[in-house]
Amino acid sequence: MNVSDSERMAGFLEAQKIQPAKDITKANIVIFNTCGVRKMAEDRAYGQIHNLWKNNPQTKIVLTGCLANRKDIQEKLKNKVALFCEIKDFMQELENFLLCHSERSPYSDEVEESTNNHRQLHHKADSSTPLCSAQNDNCYLTVTPKYANSAQAYVPIMTGCNNFCSYCVVPYARGREVSRPAEEILQEIKKLIKSGVKEITLLGQNVNSYEPLPSPQPSPEYGRGGKMFPSLLYSGEMSRTRDREGDVVNFSDLLKTINAIPGDFWIRFMTPHPKDMTAELIETITSLEKVCEAVHLPIQSGDDTILKNMNRHYTRAHYLQLIEKIKNSFAKNKPEKIFALSSDIIVGFPGETKVQLEKTAGVMRRVQYDMSYFGQFSPRPGTAAFKLKDNIKKEEKVRREKYLNEILAASALKNNQQYLGKTFDVLVDNGRAGKYFGHTRTLKNVKIKTSQKKLAGKLLEVRITRVNTWNLEGRLA
Ligand code: SF4
Repeated sequence: MNVSDSERMAGFLEAQKIQPAKDITKANIVIFNTCGVRKMAEDRAYGQIHNLWKNNPQTKIVLTGCLANRKDIQEKLKNKVALFCEIKDFMQELENFLLCHSERSPYSDEVEESTNNHRQLHHKADSSTPLCSAQNDNCYLTVTPKYANSAQAYVPIMTGCNNFCSYCVVPYARGREVSRPAEEILQEIKKLIKSGVKEITLLGQNVNSYEPLPSPQPSPEYGRGGKMFPSLLYSGEMSRTRDREGDVVNFSDLLKTINAIPGDFWIRFMTPHPKDMTAELIETITSLEKVCEAVHLPIQSGDDTILKNMNRHYTRAHYLQLIEKIKNSFAKNKPEKIFALSSDIIVGFPGETKVQLEKTAGVMRRVQYDMSYFGQFSPRPGTAAFKLKDNIKKEEKVRREKYLNEILAASALKNNQQYLGKTFDVLVDNGRAGKYFGHTRTLKNVKIKTSQKKLAGKLLEVRITRVNTWNLEGRLA
């Protein structure tokens, strides 16, 4: 999501005629789009901001993203950062900032030019395409992004989160869920397909709760102390109002509508929440031709007490039922295709015992994931779990992650054996004549040996000749 936000910021800046500097030390303004999900990311931001401030005191530093509205960070960095701005206010705040600094700034010429340009942008917006629609007050989502990749594009369909998992800063940093109007998303995707993009990744903190209609907004109180918001428990099964046949009222409808856009492209999405993984949605994602056969469904822990303390709104049994449904639906709808399952898992949540860790290990052995992203618990200020005693030592968290990673490596290697000797579509990411790197629909990394040139960004058929734990190797078919 941060990569996608940065693409939109770059698009906004470019529309202001502000050019990227060739070297950070030559930049008049540097924007840090920060992530505060883990302490490590926060520390890295501190380090980079400090170095830049020390070596280039004339550079104006702007801090946005997760860390921007944390009072402790504002206090700590007040002498180094010229502007703290929330991502959703980025355009307005940056415009004001540039105006304020225009007279004494070395980039005053560009600012003047860009300010005029911005007025034009607003003027144009007022008359035809409003930057903020009634349904969507996250104006920055409507900015035309400067896509970093010509073959793959991230398209945010919603932002914010209503779930208040006890360890997570997102609902505080990004606010409550806001879904983009379906028409706006479809227009963006159609343009991308026309420009040759081959892979669209739909983004949302809780992507499968996409609902382009107003919904009740829960308060943070429901995230505290494992307290659940009653109507959100398995809320995915709630029915939505549909005025006309063909209306997009949920994520399943949106996927079907995108799938119907003509063209040769793949659809992915991240990240879905198990509580919103309805039977309808499972049927949709396992049957649509363009939706890739890769489902990422974070479990976080395999133990019910830990899940409750995490305020995750589901149980181990419910999660495993969903996995069974997904496996059965793939077998029914795409029997000829290999599919992949992946997850996010937190190790060392406060109070996690070795028995509870074993529950997570048991889920991993049963599901046989292709990939899992592990996070060692780190207390985030402002969250409910921050108040819990972080009683598991760093070395023990490292050991637990290593243990689970060994289980993952075994299932990943076993799953990869299915690819040997078969041919798959591969989207080439990068490389040059001799060796290219790409990925399959199931998100397996593939090394491709070929003497052909200029293959980056192409969809090619590759025959797999060798499998490893974390990647495959092959030749053009
Ligand atoms: Fe954070 Fe939970 Fe929302 Fe995911 S679902 S963004 S972990 S609060």
